[in-house]
Amino acid sequence: MRALVCDGPERVALREAATPEPGPGEVLVRVSVALTCATDFKLVRRGHAKIPFPLTLGHEFAGAVEKAGAGAMFSPGDRVTSAVSAPCGSCVDCRAERENLCATAFERPLFGAFADFLLVPERIVKNGLRRIPSGLSDKAAALLDPLASVVRALGRVKAPDGEDVLVVGTGPIAAMLFFLLRGKEGTAGPTRRIVVAGRRPEKLAFFERNGAEVARIADSSRLPGAGSPPPLFSTDLSSSFPLIIDTTGDPDVISELPALAANGGTVLLFAGMAEGARVSADAFAVHYREVSIVGSFHYTPRDADVALALLASGVIPVPSLVDARRPLAEWRDAFDLAQSGRAMKVALVP
Ligand SMILES: [Zn+2]
Ligand SMILES: [Zn+2]
Repeated sequence: MRALVCDGPERVALREAATPEPGPGEVLVRVSVALTCATDFKLVRRGHAKIPFPLTLGHEFAGAVEKAGAGAMFSPGDRVTSAVSAPCGSCVDCRAERENLCATAFERPLFGAFADFLLVPERIVKNGLRRIPSGLSDKAAALLDPLASVVRALGRVKAPDGEDVLVVGTGPIAAMLFFLLRGKEGTAGPTRRIVVAGRRPEKLAFFERNGAEVARIADSSRLPGAGSPPPLFSTDLSSSFPLIIDTTGDPDVISELPALAANGGTVLLFAGMAEGARVSADAFAVHYREVSIVGSFHYTPRDADVALALLASGVIPVPSLVDARRPLAEWRDAFDLAQSGRAMKVALVP
């Protein structure tokens, strides 16, 4: 079989590899579609503290069971998608329904979907792998992993219908947040204002086409010693937002957000940051205006179930989110499309 292997930073190649045999409890999946994701691009650029090289890339996928090992509760032909982690189910965090924080959940994350076949380890077969509901396409089901983390994020904050929200960043996660907050065909109600802020004009155009109000983030080319910094948002955002969600992980951007929150509002930090990252926060807003700063990381098995149900409900317009398709052999072109912002997510098809 072919597999897109990363041997080290910026060393990626599509190679021939032996097709794995599923052992007891394991499942071999024939991949039908796998989606590009910024996590894979980050892995290629700088590696990951917990995920050693060499590594076959790709973790958002759907496919069909090719072979099931003894005791695995799946049969050849079952259409499946999966969570990428498998919590242990018995540690303090798991028992407190914070399985996303389980210390061993990422011991063997499910990577390797940019390939003809993917071997799913026993622990993920048990509580990560899911059958795709009939009527849901493979391409839509492949969004399970990113959408589950968006479900987690919205579960961490109050987002009452009709209240204004500022989404910062213009990638696929921002798009999924926007579509969930907007609701199917705008059912969030006419009073809700959802503003999406970002830098790339072509990405802001995507959100405008989909009915969002957009704001441009100024380039952070601040001249040292040139007096007070220019305003971060070139669009006037004087209205204060009960909920602000950052998907950029950019400390310069994040430090400006509490000032834009309404009294009693929340700033949610969705994006991952490098270990040791520090953000300065407006302590005045946190104290005198009771602005909360909240984080969310990954998702629990329940969030994954909710995500699959949401995908089946049609609330996410999948064709506008997964807006390009390339054969696996053209992975380089697919990566370029997604990283340049010309596509939101590219479907790689073996
Ligand atoms: Zn991903
Ligand atoms: Zn655990």
